[in-house]
Amino acid sequence: MILKTHIVEWIRLYSSYIAENKEYLTELDAAIGDADHGINMARGFNEVSHRMASLDSMDIGNIFKNVGMTLLSKVGGASGALYGTLFLRMGMAAAGKEELNSSELLAELTAGVEGIRQRGSARPGEKTMVDALEPAVTALRAALDGGAAPCEALRAAEAAAKEGMEATIPMQATKGRASYLGPRSVGHQDPGATSAYLLIKAAADALCAQNGS
Ligand code: ADP
Ligand code: MG
Repeated sequence: MILKTHIVEWIRLYSSYIAENKEYLTELDAAIGDADHGINMARGFNEVSHRMASLDSMDIGNIFKNVGMTLLSKVGGASGALYGTLFLRMGMAAAGKEELNSSELLAELTAGVEGIRQRGSARPGEKTMVDALEPAVTALRAALDGGAAPCEALRAAEAAAKEGMEATIPMQATKGRASYLGPRSVGHQDPGATSAYLLIKAAADALCAQNGS
């Protein structure tokens, strides 16, 4: 079972990974965007961190919803709307729940990534966060179908997200700010795919730390 404490730990860990990688994400965005991705994300998750204490008393659906609303109001940029949508959609899928089984977690992540795809209309291969998130969800589904425990399945998702993130390097961006560069966007890792990989890594770290399996 995935407990509310796992979800809170996921968000807490992700907030710290964003803070630690603020400069790195901003450097990646400096190469193909406007050098604000780390700053945007850190602003949002810093606010999420401040609100963590009040999240503790909510059900999982409301925790995700609150994170989503905070990101929508604080992050700004393309990523604010996209990550905000991800968490709001996960919140709808998890409405009223105090714990989740692994197929519910899969359903929520799937709904969240679908929300990002609708909102940003990006398909895989366009050098965006979708290139890390979509393979992660696919790997998670395959691992769970194969009988993997949540920790093991999320490790598989993390590995797929990392591969997807690295695969953005040779891609030419066709969505978002990086697309303005045309062929000059080739050869750089996408900042949003990088923050998306960290999101999946945080989920794996949170579940594996407390489940031990
Ligand atoms: P902005 O581009 O507005 O400055 P950020 O720098 O915070 O916003 O985020 C940039 C990231 O957002 C990109 O690296 C990319 O992964 C993601 N992104 C941009 N546009 C889209 C889109 N249409 N669909 C999915 N992701 C996108
Ligand atoms: Mg930017």
